[in-house]
Parts: sequence; C-alpha cells; structure tokens
Amino acid sequence: ILKVENLKKNFGNNEVLKGINFTVNKGDVVSIIGSSGSGKSTLLRCINQLEEPSSGSIYFEDKNLMDDNSDIRKARAKMAMVFQSFNLYSNLNVLKNCTIGPIKVLGVDRKEAEKKAVENLTKVGMAEYVNAKPSQLSGGQKQRVAIARALCMEPTLMLFDEPTSALDPEMVEEVLNTIIGLAKSGYTMVVVTHEMQFAKDVSSKVIFVDKGLIAEEGTPKEIFENPKEDRTREFLRKIY
Ligand code: ATP
Ligand code: MG
Repeated sequence: ILKVENLKKNFGNNEVLKGINFTVNKGDVVSIIGSSGSGKSTLLRCINQLEEPSSGSIYFEDKNLMDDNSDIRKARAKMAMVFQSFNLYSNLNVLKNCTIGPIKVLGVDRKEAEKKAVENLTKVGMAEYVNAKPSQLSGGQKQRVAIARALCMEPTLMLFDEPTSALDPEMVEEVLNTIIGLAKSGYTMVVVTHEMQFAKDVSSKVIFVDKGLIAEEGTPKEIFENPKEDRTREFLRKIY
C-alpha cells in the first residue's frame, strides 16, 4: 500500500532525510523510533506531502505521488494524520471537527457524515461529547477526537506522529489503548512513537531511524531483543 524509495529531503544545506527505503503492506503496524531530530516527523510529512521531498519516490496504492499528474489531494485524504498537538479546529465542536473533512473534501452529505462521526466517536469513547468545544476537553480526550476525525476520512493508511507525547502521563494509556484497538481491528498504520512498550507489543515491523537513514528495521523481537547495530543498542539503552 506504501512504498518509499530513496527518499531525500533537505532544508537548505541541512540534509534531513538521506535516502529512506521501506514498504508498508495492508494491515501492517509500523513503528518508527529514533532520537529527537533524526527526521521521523519529516519522513511522515513527506509521505503525506505536507512537505515536498527533495528526491525519491513515494508509491501510495501503486501511484507515484512524486509524478506531477498524481492527485495529491486525493491521496492525502486517504492518509489520515494524527499529530502530537491534536490540531483540532478550536472554533468547531467535536461533531463538526469530525464532519468537516468528509463534507468538504470527500463530498459526503451532512447527515451521512454525522452518522459516521458518531460511529467513530463511539469507537474512541467520545460519543457523549459531540457538542463540546475542544477547549472543554482534556488532552487525552482531544487526541481521541483527533483520532475519530482521522477515521471519518476512511483512510487506507493512518499516520501518527508521537500521538501521546504531549499528554499528561495519566492520559497516555487511554490514547494508546485506542490506537491498539485500531491496530487490532486491521487498520494499516505508521506510528512515530517514543512508547517502546507499544512498539514492542503492537508492531508488525519496527524501523529505527538515525540521522536521516534507516539504521535497522525488523520485527519487534529482532529490534528489542537482538538488535544488530550498535546504534540501535545505544538508542535503546538510553531510552529505557
Ligand atoms: P523529534 O523526535 O524531536 O520529534 P524528529 O525525528 O521528528 O524529532 P524532525 O522534526 O523530522 O525530527 O526534524 C529533523 C531535522 O529537520 C531537525 O534538524 C530540524 O531542525 C529540521 N527541520 C524540520 N522541519 C524543518 C523545517 N520546516 N525547516 C527547516 N528545518 C527543519
Ligand atoms: Mg518529530
């Protein structure tokens, strides 16, 4: 469903991604781990074209997004991104946060969009908050709404950028459990995370990014129990 080939990105003279290659198959849960500044967010942002890659190819459902004629808007709509900082529309209530994308981007009619929104808000345990404004919600609740909003776009790929790192510790679990539920129900996802337990328990594949390159990738068992690279070992030692 996603194939990234020799992806490079520089900001001026700063080469942040130096040739990234990996694939994501349907149903995969891919965790991306690595130190601060290694390029993880930039990688996600290049995948969904929030950032323009400097070179390389990104095939999404067999279309190369780097081709001029590929319909980026359409592709991006099918890759729902959940950010560290929620990015809810603060002036819209929970229901409208979830319906605006489907209505404006996918052309779904309002009734249908509202029905879907309630279904997805139910999945994340937020259905009783349809009328609340984001400012009335806790961080964990906001993030669960952001996840429901992403689901409303009926994505074929979900991208999460450190979805729990802006949360107070007591709210991390409710959000992680929500994501674990989605993973188990078969959503395909790429998750940048500092939650090693999550990466261990839930991923089909773990990718360790170091200085703009994939230093090592493998099953959670391979990466956490038997890392091949010194850099991986070093990183894991620091983070525990
Ligand atoms: P963290 O774990 O702290 O979120 P990260 O692995 O996500 O780190 P990135 O945010 O991808 O790292 O940043 C990688 C490098 O790219 C950093 O050196 C950063 O300063 C640089 N960078 C990211 N975005 C931009 C930008 N828009 N303009 C210039 N430099 C940028
Ligand atoms: Mg980041």
